[in-house]
Amino acid sequence: MQTLRASKCGLSTTQLPSSILDVIDSLNKAGYEAYIVGGGVRDLMLGLTPKDFDAVTNATPSQIKEVFGRRCRIIGRRFELAHVYSGRELIEVATFRAPPKKAVTSAAGMILRDNNWGTIEQDFARRDFSINAMYYQPRKGIVLDFCNAVDDIKTKTLRLLGDPQLRFEEDPVRMLRTLRFAAKLNFNIAPEILEVFSAELTMLLRDVSPHRLYDESQKLFTMGHLQRVMPMLIEFGIWKQLFAEIPPQISDFIERAASNTDQRIQIGKTINPAFFYAVLLWKPFLERCEFYAAKGMVAAEARAQAGLDVLKRQATRTIIPRFAETFIREVWEMQTRLLNPKPQQIEALSGHARFRAGFDFMLLREKSGDETTQGMGTWWETYQNMSLDERERAIGQYNRQRNKSRRKTASVEEPAETQSSARIEPLVKESESRSRRSRSKPNNTGFEARKVASIESQTASGDIHADHPILKRKRVQRDLKKVVFGPTQ
Ligand code: ATP
Ligand code: MG
Repeated sequence: MQTLRASKCGLSTTQLPSSILDVIDSLNKAGYEAYIVGGGVRDLMLGLTPKDFDAVTNATPSQIKEVFGRRCRIIGRRFELAHVYSGRELIEVATFRAPPKKAVTSAAGMILRDNNWGTIEQDFARRDFSINAMYYQPRKGIVLDFCNAVDDIKTKTLRLLGDPQLRFEEDPVRMLRTLRFAAKLNFNIAPEILEVFSAELTMLLRDVSPHRLYDESQKLFTMGHLQRVMPMLIEFGIWKQLFAEIPPQISDFIERAASNTDQRIQIGKTINPAFFYAVLLWKPFLERCEFYAAKGMVAAEARAQAGLDVLKRQATRTIIPRFAETFIREVWEMQTRLLNPKPQQIEALSGHARFRAGFDFMLLREKSGDETTQGMGTWWETYQNMSLDERERAIGQYNRQRNKSRRKTASVEEPAETQSSARIEPLVKESESRSRRSRSKPNNTGFEARKVASIESQTASGDIHADHPILKRKRVQRDLKKVVFGPTQ
């Protein structure tokens, strides 16, 4: 172990928000050791702006609770952690961890539960990469470096602590983290990792909860280097594990959406990760629409069913929360509404909550050469920049053109007649989709069925909100072959 001067590593307390200093100081004052660890230290040393700061201490979660009182909440089962609120910020405070005494592992060797507190040396050995395992004590102005991580920072090398094969088996998510950090930091993956990192090993990701994988996918989408990481996900076989139904090819549409996402993040704009899911799943969605259309289903019903099917298949890998699923289906539905709007609905549509996302999506499609938008992406773009008078004229002209040549119905298009005039129908009918979901489970009998039925009736009566966690606690079907789809399969 070497003790480095923080100032020599380019670190100073002036770079730290008062929230993390407050947490470290309070723990020190109560007689505990406390350090900043992980991505915060790594990013500062690389001259990047850290996303957040994590603290680690020798105080146990209940002792941390004693120090911070009502500002502290203990969370987690597999990893018990303290969340401490400092001002408006939330700091994650972990306790030094030892290797699990009686390893609670899955058949594949994956650690399922471990809450054994230990020393800083033990805590270090359990971290993933050398560059994530530096301990910074800002008041003493020192960094504890147990593995010469500072050299890996200099040579831009991503190195796993311990035996890569074992570390991946212990927690397959580390494979994803490898690609995320390599892309985010533009680091080289150490040769000993490359030696074991095979498509076969990525199969272990099938044992990871799809909830956790959704969280990881979000981190991939929002790190600002999505364009760089996508080819890596394909090359290492992770794409297949995360997005089983999405062909591992980066279309122009996906590439543009990724580049847009990265640019937004670089200029500090927020992004909705569900938007990128909508992009990724667009092709499978269209194919499913065609499938139902070929069975003679009316277009609107085909789209609704196709949307449900595609998301249900994706849920075998990453569980997209319900509100995000609704967002995705609304963006898709907007594509039809924006393609052939009734003239009297145009103004109302442009003020719709999903207009912006739907329009951005359509423009991306158009710019990537998708002719089925029939130029409406550009039309809406121009429309938004017009004065009220110009808008009226544009609608008049659109109306005349529309009457002259009724636009050809594209595969996903809804016949205009089925739309009401100025009122915009809900894009996605939530209650309908939920009952469809439960109906599509043929074996849903007994207690589970009664529970779902009773929750649904409560939801209808307004007792349980649609986003209530209990509605999300469904058994996850991991085997695609066993996923049952809509009435026509
Ligand atoms: P980010 O910039 O994404 O926040 P980070 O390194 O801080 O990067 P976190 O997920 O916030 O990543 O985790 C904080 C620290 O916890 C990591 O730096 C690492 O030391 C440790 N850690 C997180 N996940 C794992 C894991 N799966 N296995 C081992 N150690 C981990
Ligand atoms: Mg972090």
